[in-house]
Amino acid sequence: MTLRNDNKRVIHAKAEPLVPMRKTVLVTGGAGFLGSQLCARKLEQGHQVVCLDNLQTGRMRNITPLMSHRRFRFVEHDVVAPYQLKGPVHQIFNLACPASPPKYQLDPIHTFKTSVMGAMNALELAREKGAKVFQASTSEVYGDPEISPQPEGYRGCVNTFGPRACYDEGKRAAETLFYDYHHRYGVQISIARIFNTYGPFMDPQDGRVVSNFINQALRGEDLTVYGSGAQTRSFCYADDLLDAIEALMELNDPSPAPVNLGNPGEFTVLELAKKVCRLTGTGSQVVFRELPQDDPQQRKPDISAARTKLGWRPKVRLEDGLRRTIRHFQAEMAEPDQMSAAVR
Ligand code: NAD
Ligand code: UDP
Repeated sequence: MTLRNDNKRVIHAKAEPLVPMRKTVLVTGGAGFLGSQLCARKLEQGHQVVCLDNLQTGRMRNITPLMSHRRFRFVEHDVVAPYQLKGPVHQIFNLACPASPPKYQLDPIHTFKTSVMGAMNALELAREKGAKVFQASTSEVYGDPEISPQPEGYRGCVNTFGPRACYDEGKRAAETLFYDYHHRYGVQISIARIFNTYGPFMDPQDGRVVSNFINQALRGEDLTVYGSGAQTRSFCYADDLLDAIEALMELNDPSPAPVNLGNPGEFTVLELAKKVCRLTGTGSQVVFRELPQDDPQQRKPDISAARTKLGWRPKVRLEDGLRRTIRHFQAEMAEPDQMSAAVR
């Protein structure tokens, strides 16, 4: 998949790629920011792709260019309810879950069910089909960490009784289910603890920091920094992350423990705001708003395990990734009809 100059997604499928074994790949959450790009990659590699999504935070516009592809199928479904698929399924990427705090806090009980029952339903399908299943876990399993960087062995500091708990605890419980299905039933699994990832195809309205800042800057609105902006995040460009997710799925690991995936470059939120202002050339101001409850103060992945197991390291510098994301947001803004047709 490539982005044309006008930032439209192009799937190179004129000549069918020669694949040693054509797989059927299920991507739950396949209409979302990361899922849609994964679907595009798998199509381009010659596989059959089933995208299952309830369009809660995903957008039809992310998958519109894929819909006419004969190896692509979209199924509108909520992963909280069990599902069946006819025929073989070789790989399942379980990405279904809102990732933006304001979105996952809108209906916290449903978010918790999405993580837990969604994981269970993906694992049941994997068990029935003999498929390998990947879980999109999160750095949120470390909560508001007391150590930095965070290695996989760190058990975290999560509030079970706060607004972020529906997501953090849901993802933690999902990891437990993955562990138990692997040990009890021999289901092949891989688990990535994904740190903040950004890039083209994010929903500009989704409320996460990178999409908010770029959207605000391009509209000439104030950039809303929560708290003092001294809290840190490590931002990974989506292409880098997707390379690692695919490598993890292909890895034959007899003891598949969770692996951190992210870019260890650490920035304060205020630094990010200033970068976005500079790169967009906006006249916007930075304004300070209340820090949400339980907002983690620091986040930086220790990626030694990913380096060793996958030979992977992120390549895209924050400024380069931001430039590409800004271009994509600009192109979306130039298509007002499509913007208003963005599906919720
Ligand atoms: P996203 O919100 O863009 O995509 C999530 C997709 O899941 C959407 O298409 C949404 O409609 C779908 N979905 C949500 N609930 C569903 C349900 N009950 N049934 C079916 N579909 C459902 O988010 P994203 O950034 O693409 O994240 C993808 C996955 O990666 C999520 O599981 C998220 O928790 C995880 N993750 C992402 C990041 C990140 O920084 N992007 C970090 C850590 C973990
Ligand atoms: N944030 C901010 N302004 C915004 C959105 C988010 O300052 O408009 C902050 C948020 O409080 C957090 C960081 O940016 O400290 C990252 O927020 P995001 O929602 O992207 O993800 P999180 O890592 O908190 O899940």
